[in-house]
Amino acid sequence: MVEKEIEEKVYKSIIKTIKDTPLEEFYTSGHRTCQGCESALVMRFLAKAAGQRTIVIGATGCMYVANTTYYSTSWIVPWVHTQLGGSGAAALGTAAALRALMRKGKIKQEPINVIAFCGDLGCADMGLSGVSNAMTYDYNLLIILYDNESSANTDIQETSMTPFGAQTSFSRPGKQRRIMKKRWKKSVVPMIIAGHRNIRYAATMTPAYPLDSINKIRKALAIGGPTFIHSLDPCPKGWDYDPRFSHELGVLAAETGLWPLYEYIDGEIVYNEPTKSIVEGRMKRKPVKEYLEKQGRFSHFTEEDIEYVQRMVDEMYEEWEIPGVMPIKSLNVKISDR
Ligand code: SF4
Repeated sequence: MVEKEIEEKVYKSIIKTIKDTPLEEFYTSGHRTCQGCESALVMRFLAKAAGQRTIVIGATGCMYVANTTYYSTSWIVPWVHTQLGGSGAAALGTAAALRALMRKGKIKQEPINVIAFCGDLGCADMGLSGVSNAMTYDYNLLIILYDNESSANTDIQETSMTPFGAQTSFSRPGKQRRIMKKRWKKSVVPMIIAGHRNIRYAATMTPAYPLDSINKIRKALAIGGPTFIHSLDPCPKGWDYDPRFSHELGVLAAETGLWPLYEYIDGEIVYNEPTKSIVEGRMKRKPVKEYLEKQGRFSHFTEEDIEYVQRMVDEMYEEWEIPGVMPIKSLNVKISDR
């Protein structure tokens, strides 16, 4: 497809106001996610944004366990289950099979969306190699990483997405060591865009910004090729807060700068929602304390721990090559003169 056609398709796919979102639901009642589960909203948004001609592929995780109890499912579009680390391979195989069937005239030539979703353990940890493989082929598929910052369906275990210091069943604070998770959260979208130069669209989102989220899914599908979205999903069970605060936590993650919202489109970074105002200097970041103190998983934090998190976030915006996104400068790597 020529550039101009793609631009037109992307422009047409954008929804201007929340009132203009499609009324049809293709992910509906019948699921058993916890009250206040933001990952369930991601599923609803992706099905709404993509519409009826869509095949959804889901790796094992909360959204598999809660959505496909025997004899009941909330998916109205076709849905395929894959093993924990298999979403990349399954998406690639599905997209390739559709192309082959259309080429051989066995099914009608028409656009069919292929969307695979996987949790942080299934996508950013053990599934990352399959996702990377899917990003290297020229097939139309979208992979959504729904990130609740733990392996939640098997009792809140630590993953590479678990933030610094958070309590999980694998990182309980003890008398000897208060902070068990010492490493900073992995940045997946920068890894994807730096490592796969031909992909045209990747983004971060959080369901607290519904229109932004729906439009990112629609843009990814309209631009086509392999595309990737990373969504931060507040999880009342794993983060230990009252379910009514899910949206507030999503907003605070963006407003404190902990979760920058941006898109990578054809080699350019575009900031969205509060992150845009923060990067352009029109809005001051809120203190990270406001976000941390609302979650039981950080209840053991001292002022010193909070200051450390604040320092790390300040550095993301003040010292990085691309504010909040690419930590090139902070690495302080010397170029060898050998
Ligand atoms: S554990 Fe968290 S991610 Fe899983 S269904 Fe419950 S709220 Fe959603």
